[in-house]
Amino acid sequence: MTELKLVLKTTPKYIKILAAEGITTVKDFLQYFPRAYEDRSTIRNLNELIFNEKGITATKGKIIKKSIFMRGGKRIYTIHFVDQIGNKWVISIFNSWFLASRINEDKRYIIVGKPKTDYGKITFSHPDIIETEAPEEPVTRDEEQGDRRKLEIPDSKSQVPSSMSQSSEVYNSGRIFPIYPELMGIRPGWFAQKMRSLMDKVDTIFSEYLPKEFIDKFWLIGVQETIKEMHYPISFEKQKEANLRIFFDRLLRIQLYSLINRSTYQLNKTNMEHEVIDRNIVKEIIATLPFELTNAQKKVIKHITENIHEPKPMLRLLQGDVGSGKTVVAAIAAYYTFKKYQGQSVFLAPLEVLANQHYKTLAKLLLPLGLRVALLTWSLSKWEKDKIKLDLAEGRIHTIIGTHAVIQEDIKFKQLQFVVIDEQHKFGVKQRSFFKRFWAPHILQMSATPIPRSMALAFFGEFDVSIIDELPVGRKPIITKVISEKEYIKLKPRVLDHINKGQKVFVVTPLIEESEKLEEVNSAINEFENMKALYPELKGKIGLLHGKMKPKDKEDIMQDFKSWKICLLVSTTVIEVGVDIPEATIMVIKNAERFGLSQLHQLRGRIGRSDVQSYCFLETKNKTGEIGKRLNAMEESNDGFKLAELDLQNRGAGEILWTIQSWESDIPLEILSDLKFLERIQEGAKWLLEKYPNLEWLPGLKKYLEEKMGDVLA
Ligand code: ADP
Ligand code: MG
Repeated sequence: MTELKLVLKTTPKYIKILAAEGITTVKDFLQYFPRAYEDRSTIRNLNELIFNEKGITATKGKIIKKSIFMRGGKRIYTIHFVDQIGNKWVISIFNSWFLASRINEDKRYIIVGKPKTDYGKITFSHPDIIETEAPEEPVTRDEEQGDRRKLEIPDSKSQVPSSMSQSSEVYNSGRIFPIYPELMGIRPGWFAQKMRSLMDKVDTIFSEYLPKEFIDKFWLIGVQETIKEMHYPISFEKQKEANLRIFFDRLLRIQLYSLINRSTYQLNKTNMEHEVIDRNIVKEIIATLPFELTNAQKKVIKHITENIHEPKPMLRLLQGDVGSGKTVVAAIAAYYTFKKYQGQSVFLAPLEVLANQHYKTLAKLLLPLGLRVALLTWSLSKWEKDKIKLDLAEGRIHTIIGTHAVIQEDIKFKQLQFVVIDEQHKFGVKQRSFFKRFWAPHILQMSATPIPRSMALAFFGEFDVSIIDELPVGRKPIITKVISEKEYIKLKPRVLDHINKGQKVFVVTPLIEESEKLEEVNSAINEFENMKALYPELKGKIGLLHGKMKPKDKEDIMQDFKSWKICLLVSTTVIEVGVDIPEATIMVIKNAERFGLSQLHQLRGRIGRSDVQSYCFLETKNKTGEIGKRLNAMEESNDGFKLAELDLQNRGAGEILWTIQSWESDIPLEILSDLKFLERIQEGAKWLLEKYPNLEWLPGLKKYLEEKMGDVLA
């Protein structure tokens, strides 16, 4: 702390702000990186300025005269400026009163900013004005005369810079200049200045921690160079290389974490002897199904049963589009472990509605086969919970289905062998690792969000991945249409027609689930009222579902929807995950532009679950605009993987990352979609673990592992 204060020569207030950001040493400080860069490497003369463009330009010269005047209550500075080759012009400076008040006549400055032309004047809005002790400059023409009409302001289109002069005597111009994120009132410029003063200390503060052989093998630039190029890059190419090194290291840690996690988990041997797969067990349960499994389902069942017979516990991620039938696959595997080894199983679901649904499905399937199945959620009384826990500990319950209520300290099993985590992205890493304490059961994580291959590699390195890439036969692809508000009202006859045929309708209003804000709940309530007014003929048959409702009420509504008491359900996105209502054939999504394609696809997956044609209508006020166009992809594609890739390109990785781990959401898209880069990192992680199994020296790795694995690792 004191070291930092000494080096930065700053106030306790700033030190405190930095500390709050986790910056307590000079080393930390040097890892506070710019958010952007400005190309200030060229200084233009006044006749070479490029106007009304996005880029930044710098001009250099002397102030001959300055004056202030007021316009619209604002103070505007006007300076008579003469550049290095004698061009002279009047420059107005807006929004920079503080700066402008400190500039003086007869001194030399560099003005950096975005020049515009305004009624024959050059204007700069909040520029940087930097005093400079410029060496010899050519004598200017007509200096005394002060002829301000001397220079013709060039037309911005015909503007081609003819001569440029370099300046390097000041740190904030004549180079690529870093723009730091503002921090609680600490201005970007302050960082730029302090960083500059620290540049010659970088070599003593940082040293390379990766082996030289590794650096060469993977074509990386060194740590010291990386830090320097991040702050004051020699070129944009170099900055890019430095940036890659930074993300390489970050993703390398994640990859190492994955690989270490996998190998520590798999140190636990399963208590099953290596035997041949008993196909008859699988056949037994399949024979009771009312449908034929798809080939994709069969393939995954084969993967899983093979894993169950390996001496190491399974870590598998099952990806399958909505409605592809993941639940039954997991159920078959649970049955298999029970039949073969008397193993207990857990099914975890993120929401109570979903746990209830799984409970019903699994009870129907497994009870007749002799398994005892139970449901454990927060809604149960303490007495009921205690009873279930005792039964689990003593092995009287074979399959437990539940929400987070299952992942509690006091839970015990007689012989837990198989864990299914449905909609895995709703569970954190620590919750996932919870099961390590029970002799490392097999883990099957399931996800309906198709994760592009590159990202699966980046974040799920420890998992083997299976994909169900085929929907059950007879399913008709959902017909999707983007519609306007007016067309939404006009849907009425169609909606009634479907309902008269015994089908059901979803109306979804946007919100961010979990963090459901009141106003968003209100939008669902509003829509509920709208629907009641619009459909008097459905009196009493319209329901409302949102996240602020009590679990019991939610459950009742879902039950009513299943049993036809309700035929039109207005809902927030709480219905998103896994809810199965096969008779639902119409879904209208309001303000669809507020969703990513992946999420829309998830929502849409609630319908089209039978052989009846289903329709999805995406309502938006902006049907023809840029936003509406993005939605058109939904009309064209029913392929979740393709839509996820599009999301990745259109809206950035955040769209998909929310489904993974929000803590990595600042890794840029170019990196996350670069499969080659990520493969190289995985290769690197394997190489390192092989040559240097003890990686404690890798900065941040230990901390990272602790954060991610918590006490579970201990
Ligand atoms: P998801 O993969 O989205 O979790 P579910 O497991 O909920 O999908 O399955 C969706 C529906 O499809 C369920 O009603 C299930 O019974 C049914 N289903 C699963 N597999 C098949 C199949 N092979 N043929 C027909 N229907 C199936
Ligand atoms: Mg599901």
